[in-house]
Amino acid sequence: MKNNYYIIDTHCHIYPEKIASKAVAATDKFYDAKSFGKGTTADLKESCIRFGVDHALVQSVATTPHQVRSINEFISAEVKSADGFFTGLGTIHPESEDMKGDIEHLIALGLKGVKIHPDIQRFKLDDYRLLKAYEICEEKNLPILIHTGDNRYDYSNPNRMLPILETYTKLTVIGAHLGGWSIWDSACESYAGLPNFYVDCSSSFYWIDKKTAKDVISRYGADKVMFATDYPMWSAEKELDYFFDLGFSQEEYTKMLSGNAKKLFNL
Ligand SMILES: [Zn+2]
Repeated sequence: MKNNYYIIDTHCHIYPEKIASKAVAATDKFYDAKSFGKGTTADLKESCIRFGVDHALVQSVATTPHQVRSINEFISAEVKSADGFFTGLGTIHPESEDMKGDIEHLIALGLKGVKIHPDIQRFKLDDYRLLKAYEICEEKNLPILIHTGDNRYDYSNPNRMLPILETYTKLTVIGAHLGGWSIWDSACESYAGLPNFYVDCSSSFYWIDKKTAKDVISRYGADKVMFATDYPMWSAEKELDYFFDLGFSQEEYTKMLSGNAKKLFNL
């Protein structure tokens, strides 16, 4: 709890102890930034408790198809050993030979959604090999958290996302980083008002001023925005201080800090 709000961080990455420092260094290089956390389950839980975060959604991204099932087993095991503190999302990969099997496997493991990162996994989000996955997620009511936006590449910007949203009209999509990292304004222009498109506010505040953040969040609306840190990138302490400075109403903060996530993931 912070400022009397129950807080869910809807976007956190964790890695096995052995590879965490390497994985964190690779992300730092990709975004030319310096991560706050260690990227391990223990460090995440400790940070959450220290900064008033009550629950966190954890995930990890496979960069090859053969990593998919072992990563999902790792996430599931971490969730199970954390006594309800975490909810897990599974990874998938477009080059998988058994997409349906992979998704059924992650559901059987108790994972509550799917995370994809087109810019790091190196595929366009409207890649035909993913259409099956969108279809299954839509049919099984499995929300999909997608890294969105990068002005350096053409993997996850609105031109790739909009056809998916138009085709899979019942698919619940969460566009990370306010719907478009580094293209905040144009992303919001493209997506605001779409019924099944939500956003998390992770990895955005460092790059935009509070006036822009408030404007972008207001255009999506408090029903569509979820608090998130992209741990290990940013500390929940700083991100929450910034978020509370934006001056939304109590009702709006309640939705964005936990209400929307509870609804989408049945928490
Ligand atoms: Zn992420």
